Amino acid sequence: MTEVEGKSRIAIIGGGLVGALAACFFAKRGHQVVIYEYRSDLRMENSSGQSINLALSFRGREALRAVGLEDIVVKQYGTSMRGRMLHDKNGNLKEVLYDSVKGNCIYSISRRRLNIILLDAAEKYPKVQVNFNKKLVDADLEKGKMKFLNMKTGAMENADADLIIGADGAYSKVRKIMAKRSLFNCAQTYIEHGYVELSVPSGKNNEFAMNGKNLHIWPRGEFMMTSLPNEDHTFTGNLFAPFHVLEKLKTPVTLLRFYTEHFPDLLRLIGEQSLVQQFFEKEPQTLISIKCEPYHVGKTALIIGDAAHAMVPFYAQGMNTGFEDVLLLDELMECYNSDFAKILPKFSELRCDDGHAICDLAMYNYLEMRDLVTRKSFLVRKFVDKILYTFIPNSWIPLYSSVHFTRMSFRDCIAHKEWQDKVLRASLWCFGIFVVAILAISLSQSTI
Ligand code: FAD
Repeated sequence: MTEVEGKSRIAIIGGGLVGALAACFFAKRGHQVVIYEYRSDLRMENSSGQSINLALSFRGREALRAVGLEDIVVKQYGTSMRGRMLHDKNGNLKEVLYDSVKGNCIYSISRRRLNIILLDAAEKYPKVQVNFNKKLVDADLEKGKMKFLNMKTGAMENADADLIIGADGAYSKVRKIMAKRSLFNCAQTYIEHGYVELSVPSGKNNEFAMNGKNLHIWPRGEFMMTSLPNEDHTFTGNLFAPFHVLEKLKTPVTLLRFYTEHFPDLLRLIGEQSLVQQFFEKEPQTLISIKCEPYHVGKTALIIGDAAHAMVPFYAQGMNTGFEDVLLLDELMECYNSDFAKILPKFSELRCDDGHAICDLAMYNYLEMRDLVTRKSFLVRKFVDKILYTFIPNSWIPLYSSVHFTRMSFRDCIAHKEWQDKVLRASLWCFGIFVVAILAISLSQSTI
């Protein structure tokens, strides 16, 4: 990379969602960017038919908006989802809106489509170069020196940069290199649950087979199915279950028995043959959560996205948080005039705790989605939240709304929810004491 006066030479490791978006932001500020991506260019490959989709919400949209991509992503390719549709075992449906007060939605978008949009957008900047089939195998993060394996030729290649951005996902090589340094803390947790992805075909006349305005959930306590609508009126679903459950589903007979018992409506939509074929196509995949800190090394290296805070997918915030990382980085570049000696430590200071908080929230939401949503206490709480949110929308923001529809820091989202819990508990106590006092008074009067 050649140096341009006043501007940095930035190497982004990983041309996934977060890396490609980061390239747009850096290039917009005049920095010279090279993306190194381990895989080949997905734009040159045939789409594999099945579409893996992601839920995009406010944090992610704000980042896309800042580089002029929100409209194309949301309006052209996004499918709005206004709430959860809960399916019980008898096929009964219950819709729980995400935001009945302000009408906010989240949007389902194909991961592949989004990655293509972001890579195309990055490459439109003359200062961005994308190198595919280049796998980072080692780096000196202080000196900005990197070593790549050329996946096509097998040759080792060297490169250097002023700043290395690790956007290389949950199993980040950049993070692993950081982990060899002192005072770098890192904890990884595999949950004891895995997932299997399944496609639900469109219905009659190529229409959605279920309501296309919802994220569908089949909560079954220990496990659950979810599915998100696609542009082509299919749904992409996931079975999330403990491995001890998945291990029992080893034959078509046990699988079909399991679906007949727990997800009969879904089985009808997918079809027995297709379910068996899809289910045994791949091994169940694992889910990992990563908490680490700091996210930077001096003024020369930074990790963002899943590399910094991979999380279980139950709050649908992994990509959104990664996009918000990039937005925060851009805000700091504005504030500190692209002085990375100031920006990188500030980023760690502002973001690490938040990264840990959203990892915790994502774990909590698994319990909510597969179990709590079916409980009366949950629905009562939702109702109370709705009433209070309607009358005091600026003071009482339900947790789901603060995470999905604001840019409140994740730590503050948790603190706000804890404060709400305290207020409700105190109100319940006061109400209880009031009722007891009234009873006591009326009893004492009737005995006089
Ligand atoms: P990745 O998308 O993993 O991209 C990393 C890139 O780096 C890849 O292209 C990889 O090839 C490349 N790379 C890796 N190692 C190297 C190397 N050594 N050298 C060069 N390149 C390398 N998030 C949401 O916001 N909403 C959702 O609804 C949602 N649903 C999800 C559902 C599931 C089942 C899962 C598993 C995740 C979900 N997520 C969701 C999370 C989301 O997928 C991730 O947070 C997001 O993909 C992170 O983007 P990233 O660019 O940081 O990492």
